[in-house]
Amino acid sequence: MSLSEETIFRFLLVTSILSVGVSFYHCSPDNCKLPECQCLSCDPPNGLNIAETPQFVLLSFDDAVTQNNFKFFTEIFSDGLKNPNDCLISATFYVSDELNTNYKLVETLFQDGNTISSHSSTHRFPQSWWITASETQLAAEFDGQRRVLALRGHIPYQKIMGMRIPFLQQGGNTPYRMAQSYRFKYDSSFVTGPNNHRGFLNYRPPWPFTLNHQPGRSVFPFICDIGPCPTESFPGLWEIPLVRMLGPNGQTCAMADGCKTTSATETYDFLMNNFQRHYNGNRAPFGINLHATWFERNPHALPALRRFLREMSTHKDVWVVGAEMLIDWARNPIPNRALSTHVPWKYARGCRRECDCK
Ligand SMILES: [Zn+2]
Repeated sequence: MSLSEETIFRFLLVTSILSVGVSFYHCSPDNCKLPECQCLSCDPPNGLNIAETPQFVLLSFDDAVTQNNFKFFTEIFSDGLKNPNDCLISATFYVSDELNTNYKLVETLFQDGNTISSHSSTHRFPQSWWITASETQLAAEFDGQRRVLALRGHIPYQKIMGMRIPFLQQGGNTPYRMAQSYRFKYDSSFVTGPNNHRGFLNYRPPWPFTLNHQPGRSVFPFICDIGPCPTESFPGLWEIPLVRMLGPNGQTCAMADGCKTTSATETYDFLMNNFQRHYNGNRAPFGINLHATWFERNPHALPALRRFLREMSTHKDVWVVGAEMLIDWARNPIPNRALSTHVPWKYARGCRRECDCK
């Protein structure tokens, strides 16, 4: 091979390697319209101005619900904090069975207005199992858990609309084929955001989007970090990505309890600093994704979270809601001023007993 031939060969080799994993994002408002389709974007949907865009705070808890961790949930909601429509704040519980979930307690969480989602039946190890699991196996895990939640937790089957994959481990297209076959409406398993503190400079987090068009790696290289990521189209299936947070020592975490804090003040500042990035930025939903074990290991964490939520309830444009309400809004993004009188939310569980609902 001559020198020039070798140069051309190397060029072709490099470009072919680069083209693997690089795809172009074909989503645009022309081929993707609400309520069934939303392109991945870092701007508020429907052309809303930042000033009229509600800031959503998504508090979520993963894994089994037990007598032991239920006391933490009771304490979090014991302050009776309310959203701007005078109804109680709520959270999302991604519940796995793991042979020790207490479904009576899950029923109570649902009755209090929280969103209940499926986080698999077994939550089995090893993590790599979730990469290779078949559609049938995943259906047994996610839809199977939904059926148990409906049967033993007395939650209407159709009200359990979402899923989160254990370990946030993607499994290519298979989990999403299963999600569509079994009519799940949303997933919240994509990990995104910077993985070092320098990346947070001028960082704009993404909004929830539908999987009609896969973002690939060309536009948002970090949208789905724990691959293999899906490559096919799943029309109408929403993704609520987990946006990493920046911890006090420069570490980053997709689950908030993955960032180490050593005091209540430091924990409060950690939550508030990350919140401000969203609130003073593009107002993309701010997720605080947790395992209740955080409160056991760190007695300072619960008072800090409660103080943070008290602060949130003083804002007229901040809403602490479960995933079901977020998706309801994402399909029909109305300005903040219209949300306070948004009738479906006035009659949601959790506000019926606590507000006049007129
Ligand atoms: Zn889990």
